[in-house]
Amino acid sequence: MSEYKDFLRTIVEEDLKAGKYKEVVTRFPPEPNGFPHIGHAKSICINFGIAKDYKGHCNLRMDDTNPTTEDTRYVEALKDAVQWLGFEWDNSVRFTSDYFSQIHGYAIELIKMGKAYVDSVDEEEMRELRGTVTEAGKRSKYAERSVEENLDLFECMKNGEFKDGEHVLRAKIDMGAANMKLRDPLLYRIRHAHHFRAGDAWAIYPMYDFAHCLSDYIEGVSHSICTLEFENNRDIYDWVLDSLQLQPPRPYQHEFARLNINYTVMSKRKLLELVETGVVDGWDDPRLPTIEGYKRRGYTPESIINFCDGIGIAKANSMVDVAQLEFCIRDDLNTKVPRVMAVLDPLKVTITNYDGAEEIEASYYPHDVPKEGTRILPFSREIYIDRADFSESPEKGYFRLTPTQSVRLKYAYIITFEEAIKDAKGNIVEIKVSYHPDSKSGEDTSGIKVKSAIQWVETNTAKNVEVRVYDRLFKNEAPEGLEDINPDSLKVIKTALIEPSVITDKPDVRFQFEREGYFYADPVDYTDEKPVFNKIVALKESSAKKKKTPQQAPKDEPKKVQIDGEVVPMSEEEQALFDKYTNELKLNSEVANTLARDAKLSSFYEEALQTLDSPVAIANIVTNDVARELKQVEISELKFTAKDVAELVKMVNEELISSKIAKQVFEEMVKSGENPTSIVEAKGLVQISDPEMIAPIIEEVIAKNPDNVEKFKAGNTKLLGFFVGQVLKATQGKANPKVVNALVTQALKV
Ligand code: ATP
Ligand code: MG
Repeated sequence: MSEYKDFLRTIVEEDLKAGKYKEVVTRFPPEPNGFPHIGHAKSICINFGIAKDYKGHCNLRMDDTNPTTEDTRYVEALKDAVQWLGFEWDNSVRFTSDYFSQIHGYAIELIKMGKAYVDSVDEEEMRELRGTVTEAGKRSKYAERSVEENLDLFECMKNGEFKDGEHVLRAKIDMGAANMKLRDPLLYRIRHAHHFRAGDAWAIYPMYDFAHCLSDYIEGVSHSICTLEFENNRDIYDWVLDSLQLQPPRPYQHEFARLNINYTVMSKRKLLELVETGVVDGWDDPRLPTIEGYKRRGYTPESIINFCDGIGIAKANSMVDVAQLEFCIRDDLNTKVPRVMAVLDPLKVTITNYDGAEEIEASYYPHDVPKEGTRILPFSREIYIDRADFSESPEKGYFRLTPTQSVRLKYAYIITFEEAIKDAKGNIVEIKVSYHPDSKSGEDTSGIKVKSAIQWVETNTAKNVEVRVYDRLFKNEAPEGLEDINPDSLKVIKTALIEPSVITDKPDVRFQFEREGYFYADPVDYTDEKPVFNKIVALKESSAKKKKTPQQAPKDEPKKVQIDGEVVPMSEEEQALFDKYTNELKLNSEVANTLARDAKLSSFYEEALQTLDSPVAIANIVTNDVARELKQVEISELKFTAKDVAELVKMVNEELISSKIAKQVFEEMVKSGENPTSIVEAKGLVQISDPEMIAPIIEEVIAKNPDNVEKFKAGNTKLLGFFVGQVLKATQGKANPKVVNALVTQALKV
């Protein structure tokens, strides 16, 4: 147990000291309606962790009271998650549905005590009678029913004699309660639905508020730990258990803040949307915050547990930086996994003064890793290095190979540049170097000074591997949904090369590829014939500054088009377009590549350019949004024209509308064929840039998030994006992001 005691453990200790319980019993109670995510991992660590620390036990209970959304495959995924994290549940898995009879019996008791009644108003009337925060509600006239009538009706409900929604069972508590949840909450509703475990036995299903506390009681739970959004439900929890005058000891509910991480969404509903729309490749997509996703990506259970323990247990909601999770996995792997050499973007190197071949023995583990194991690195006159490790015209501070700067091949020799071989277009296709025979690593007497050692692989023995490089799934810190997806979250490199021992010895499934990051042999797609590695995490946290500079390849480097999985060469025409797009129009190579290779797209693009000279902005919308439409139909079948798209871009350029709103307008153009200006006018979508209109919204957002303001002031400047996002959200995306950014920055300084 860690030395620091969180507030939950403090409560548990006090209860034990006071003799309130003989044993600590907790439970993890997921609803089996989706795959578990890292928020669930947090809850698992808390519940199982506390039980373990105090030598009690923790139950795994499927909260399966909602027959229509649940499924056994989710049950399996939840069991897997708990086991993978290394915890054991007490006895067999429990199901709330196993207690349906008992819970039903408790409902009958409440009716007999006059504390529950069958109500028959429709939904709308029920809402009206409930009152508001400032006004007390009124009880429905059906609350006057006699105990006999209630028992009779409830029995008929159970037997399926009524339609869904015709009646409900309610607790008779207090229609004037300040806590609105206490205004005669629902206990049972009619649902003619097949339940994945209970079958068709029941036509009524208990509500969460009734089933949860009773399930806890039935299982002898002592501490019922849940997230903050259930704070107001605690009064019902207590009311039910107290009213039934159950034999002590009874459980009590305690709330903690749910885990939120930036750059991701967490709710099962939103995750389901990503899976169902095909934005990701299923629940185990390595970009998802699901346990299955982390598992497939290569995260270890230890890293997830360390993360959950490290962030502590809070009483107020907050946002945790994903960098913290990335730190945990790096920290875990750093001292565990073998270090090997892989070249992701190979450049051929011929060592002109080297003949023959040799085998170099090198350790898999650096000195401070308490593990042993070596491998053989074949070496010969032909090797590959990474393109980025040679530069003809280096920037200041470039420490690798240049025409005037030698470099060490890790574990081998120092090499010195001789000549670069270029193709007709001036791209470097090979370099020739010489090596220094007396510079071998470990026995270097050459006296040559180098500034770095780079990775390499030997041409004849290197194995071709596919490498999947993952980036954040969302572009911004507080994403709302599909519109915030990062289009570059997955890059597949099919032409990477790796030293042979990784495939033939298999010293591990996780590796550090020297100077590149941590990688994991994909548990699904990896075969020895076609090895596939997932990038788990980079070696270092990428600095925000680094990420903001546009990715522009230095002049002398060949275009990156070839490495991203596109191995088909371009036709001459396509190449000419590509060159024009990158050189004259300054498009980045990925966008230029997409346009140049697709005749439909490039002709649409060129036409739009005739109306508006904004090559980069138009290229972006054409390669993203228009391309999506053109997948289904021909240009002639589109309802909008290239001119319309140019007009839309113009409005964004002139800051009449935000780029977020532009997406919405584009969707409308696709559907109706209306021209963008009319759409914007008709729907009142003009961007708000007036500080006077934006300032009060900022004030409100700041007032609502005191914790984050404090963190921001304490130095977590990354939260700026959070605040900007909240303000944009409050204006439904209409506020001008630049203005919001400036105003928020100013407001937070005060
Ligand atoms: P979601 O909103 O993602 O659907 P949920 O709260 O509905 O999640 P359940 O399956 O009902 O998910 O939750 C199981 C347990 O996990 C509950 O005790 C819940 O409070 C906890 N839990 C869910 N999400 C988080 C989170 N982000 N942080 C901490 N605990 C969480
Ligand atoms: Mg839920």
